[in-house]
Amino acid sequence: MTSASASWGPDFAALESVDPDIARILLAERDRLNDGLQLIASENFTSPSVLAALGSTLSNKYAEGYPGKRYYGGCEVVDEAESLGIERAKTLFGADHANLQPHSGANANLAVYGAFMKPGETLLAMSLPHGGHLTHGAKVSFTGKWFNAVHYGVSATTEDIDYDQMRDLAHEHRPKMIICGGSAIPRLIDFAAFRAVADEVGAILMVDAAHFIGLVAGKAIPSPVPYADVVTFTTHKVLRGPRGGMLVCKSEHAAALDKAVFPMMQGGPLMHAVAAKAVALKEAATPEYAAYARQVIANAQALTEGLAAEGMRPVSGGTDTHLALLDLQGIGVTGAEAEARAGAARIVLNKNAIPYDPAPPSVASGIRVGTPATTTQGMDEADMRLIASLIGRAVKDPNGSQTAAVADEVRALVANKPAYAS
Ligand SMILES: *Cc1c(COP(=O)(O)O)cnc(C)c1O
Repeated sequence: MTSASASWGPDFAALESVDPDIARILLAERDRLNDGLQLIASENFTSPSVLAALGSTLSNKYAEGYPGKRYYGGCEVVDEAESLGIERAKTLFGADHANLQPHSGANANLAVYGAFMKPGETLLAMSLPHGGHLTHGAKVSFTGKWFNAVHYGVSATTEDIDYDQMRDLAHEHRPKMIICGGSAIPRLIDFAAFRAVADEVGAILMVDAAHFIGLVAGKAIPSPVPYADVVTFTTHKVLRGPRGGMLVCKSEHAAALDKAVFPMMQGGPLMHAVAAKAVALKEAATPEYAAYARQVIANAQALTEGLAAEGMRPVSGGTDTHLALLDLQGIGVTGAEAEARAGAARIVLNKNAIPYDPAPPSVASGIRVGTPATTTQGMDEADMRLIASLIGRAVKDPNGSQTAAVADEVRALVANKPAYAS
């Protein structure tokens, strides 16, 4: 059969004949991933099984509502996928309730605001320039426009969360909700301390675990689930699932949060993505994944030590997680220059503001690096030490005389450990 409907799942040959332009782009992106080092801390390489679920006919189904309570007929099959995913999430995280429908991490956060906050009410969260997130009340985000956002930061001496400041601000402003978590926090977060302050002022505690939930799933770091009213996260970072969002919560908040995801903030769920999240949760419950999560941290620590030896100062002195923030002021290079120089040598990382950064965010005095993707490729601490020296050579090379040689070493390193088979 040659009709498009003959194929039930991914069919690359069909794509190549129908749309050679997009087919070429997909191959080029696979080659880009295979042909360099991906050190963006929020990225990973999801599995072929997850990609198969993502490329499935479940994309076709309208399933507004939740399993057993849909606004459309014909949902009996997709109900099974979502129910399996919910059960897997509850078991993996020891949570009362789970919702797999948020389209993204930002959408999961949006639902939490919808469930608990009215416009004009106060939230307390980590400031963006100190490692928080846009959706935690930044001025350019709806969360900063619709709510009264108060921000705590890191202490200038330890460069770790300033818990005293957080408590003082909570008592002064009596926020409706306190948020912890962020996009550039290398250290473990003291969830018990946040819970205590939330209880003192009667606030909801939301933990945005987008970055580190995979480390929690792999039991490599402590879980926020026992402490938080609600934990939101993305499924595509260390967790290694499809691009998307999710939340788990205490049973008392289950109904309010489900209603906030749908119908308050979203329409029909992406059932192919829900099924792919279920696959990722199954993978994340294995001993192999737990070993992966531990290796991600060991690799981040080895990479950080290597970069420190190159003269890049680790903010907060190091890392307990999958990411590190490096202050480049000591080597006289800006974050933007470092990103460009490393990128030219096929090492993909991002410039990042450091706490109390004297440079504007578009330039930044630091870089952020993470090890989820390279660890998925099978790299270890010895590889990380080599990568640190390659980054040092590329970044401390203003005229690019080292670029080609470093790129060759990168290619040699990744040749035996491709992200995706060709
Ligand atoms: C990545 C991230 C998000 C947003 O996730 P998207 O899927 O990009 O919307 C939210 N919060 C934190 C802390 C993140 O790191």
